[in-house]
Amino acid sequence: MTACPLCNHPYSRSFPIFYTFEGNEFEARRCRACSFIFIHPRPTENELALLYSDEYFLHDGADCGAHAPTDYETAARKGSVKFPEILGWIKKFKPRGDFFEVGCGMGYFLDYARSQGYTVSGIEYAALGAKACREKFGLDVQQASFEAYPLSRERYDVIFMGDVLEHLNQPLEMVKKAQAMLKSGGVLAVEVPSMFNSLVGRIAISVYALLGVRKKMPMPPYHVNEFVSTTLKQMLERAGFSKTLVIQRIKAPFTITLRGSWYEKVGKQALQYPNYVLTKLTGRYGDRLLGIGIKEA
Ligand SMILES: [Zn+2]
Repeated sequence: MTACPLCNHPYSRSFPIFYTFEGNEFEARRCRACSFIFIHPRPTENELALLYSDEYFLHDGADCGAHAPTDYETAARKGSVKFPEILGWIKKFKPRGDFFEVGCGMGYFLDYARSQGYTVSGIEYAALGAKACREKFGLDVQQASFEAYPLSRERYDVIFMGDVLEHLNQPLEMVKKAQAMLKSGGVLAVEVPSMFNSLVGRIAISVYALLGVRKKMPMPPYHVNEFVSTTLKQMLERAGFSKTLVIQRIKAPFTITLRGSWYEKVGKQALQYPNYVLTKLTGRYGDRLLGIGIKEA
């Protein structure tokens, strides 16, 4: 059994969802010690390479190229509505300097950060994305995994990872690496989906647990970790950040991706409205988390 990727505790409980890929099953587990949710087994290097290859990432009807029903480019552009809010949080703590993005996708956010005065560079694991960053925006982006990328200590003022941590087999190690690569007073910002923190996610999980069923997720195991605000905060703290905060965000009801049967789609769409109002009012039950860690000066 996979030890908890957050606290290394050996024991976990089953969590009622699973993925399949190439004939193998990947089940969700929840750590008995820290409640972190993760997929077991972890995809192998070969499986990961296949998951992120151009062929797989873009094949027709995959519903997983950037996990969107639209093409990758449209999804990237659609995501840009959130840029001012996210960069706004980063600017509060570090308004200028060397900005490094891990997993910069098609380069839209990095291009935006550059337009706001940062000196930007980044890496992207998918060949397609890295190429687009260079050709479309002329960005300084290399194709690389963060795991294999050379560690340069105290190099950056800001490191951003958007929709990255949920994909990594060793998320804590990579947050530690980012911490080491920040200058003192530097800022790490990580944005992750938080499917099981929202109303619809909480209700769905309760229903599956009650019925004693496991839900098959309609995509391969792209997300090998699932965060809620407490586990994201814990990850930043364990990586050595002395000052941390987690901001809960929520997607506008008309922008969410709907999957599954018609009743699941209707239910999700209907619940997103009260969820939206609730999150805006209380800062809780969000479906997106923005974690910020500030390295001690
Ligand atoms: Zn744990």
